[in-house]
Amino acid sequence: MTLSLETFAKENGVKFFLINFTDLFGAQRAKLVPTSAIAGMQKDGAGFAGFATWLDMTPGHPDMFSLPDAASVIQLPWKPEVAWVAGDPVMDGMLVEQAPRVVLKKLIKQAADKGWVMKSGVEPEFHLINPDGTDISDPRDTAEKPCYDQSAIMRRYDVISEICTTMLDLGWGPYQNDHEDANGQFEINWNFNDCLTTADQHAFFKFMVKEIAEKHGLRATFMPKPFSHLTGNGCHVHTSVWDLKTGKENLFYDKDGELGVSQFGYHFLGGVMEHAEALVAITNPTVNSYKRINAPTTSSGATWAPNTITFGGNNRTHMVRIPDVGRFEVRVADGAANPYLLQASVLAAGLDGVANKADPGKRLDIDMYAMGHTVDNVKTLPLNLIDAIRIFANSKPMRAAFGESFSTAYIKLKTANWNQYCQQLTQWERDTTLDC
Ligand code: ADP
Ligand code: MG
Ligand code: MG
Ligand code: MG
Ligand code: MG
Repeated sequence: MTLSLETFAKENGVKFFLINFTDLFGAQRAKLVPTSAIAGMQKDGAGFAGFATWLDMTPGHPDMFSLPDAASVIQLPWKPEVAWVAGDPVMDGMLVEQAPRVVLKKLIKQAADKGWVMKSGVEPEFHLINPDGTDISDPRDTAEKPCYDQSAIMRRYDVISEICTTMLDLGWGPYQNDHEDANGQFEINWNFNDCLTTADQHAFFKFMVKEIAEKHGLRATFMPKPFSHLTGNGCHVHTSVWDLKTGKENLFYDKDGELGVSQFGYHFLGGVMEHAEALVAITNPTVNSYKRINAPTTSSGATWAPNTITFGGNNRTHMVRIPDVGRFEVRVADGAANPYLLQASVLAAGLDGVANKADPGKRLDIDMYAMGHTVDNVKTLPLNLIDAIRIFANSKPMRAAFGESFSTAYIKLKTANWNQYCQQLTQWERDTTLDC
């Protein structure tokens, strides 16, 4: 039975709801709705003018309504009188097909029809920076190899522990916090879940981290490459597919399979490998994203981001890593990835791989950064956003998997984004071209 948000409010002392949806660029939009109006909104949705957001609509479109999915409701632990609830946009009584959460749910349904559920965990890295965004927030965080720096994480204990406590209270099962490989960079890990829950949690996580950082006079950024000399913000996805009925049988696990991964798992992986070039348009969705992948070595000694479409065992220099039996980790996505489209990418590619019995090729056990040049016929990742968009645009299977409404809208908006970038005149051009 669907949870009544009005009852939820009464039982938990909630005064307002943020009825939320995420647009194509990953921006979270919401109406702040008083509890007195929530019963009506739960039935009819909160109204929005779609054109005012990134959904590729015109000012002439009818109103769009975000229908709250009550199962996703979260009371804000740092402001308990407010609750957040993810919604699915509808217009004229029909789901808005290009809306990211709707795209993901459609793919989840396709998997469910086969008796499968994709479960995943994400690792959204972020930097804690000063409020004006010019530098990291801790002037003493300057080590050449800052990863796991014990003193640096303790200097940010107030922020990190508040976020982690919140996640404990929400029952997400956070199990570790660390200082990551860039100065000023952190990561918090929590338990994997079905991919819709993970996508909602990921969306909420980004909101929460920014809010709590702000409360402490800081700013959090998930920007893929906020500082050119430092390691960027990745967002790895760990994934496995389970039997839907019991939820207990991991279909990626086979004790006799190579590295403990089943044939089914390798076909799913084959799909991810095959469609990676197209999917980076979604997992690495900004101009800035391509300054994290394909990047020169950072001051710590490694970017930890992939350059090639290769996979390995427990080896962090490839696009996909098999860290353990029964799962694999896609390492290409970054902090700008839309939480819903990120899960949709892995699921779309994987389902296609299983349907076509895709072959992921051979595992590589080399340090790809140092030895990449010794391997022949390795596919490389697109070098910039427009290349990725064009590859996505030409990929019939991925366009079909995401739906034509989504694909047309996304390609159009992202191409416009690229053109806007090209209109910038940079100092680098002046420095290298003035005397031509
Ligand atoms: P690493 O830094 O080594 O890549 P982390 O511990 O930071 O690993 O993150 C691992 C993520 O993988 C977590 O979100 C965890 O819950 C998730 N995970 C573990 N097992 C599975 C699995 N079978 N399927 C999907 N996700 C998994
Ligand atoms: Mg108005
Ligand atoms: Mg990690
Ligand atoms: Mg990390
Ligand atoms: Mg990882």
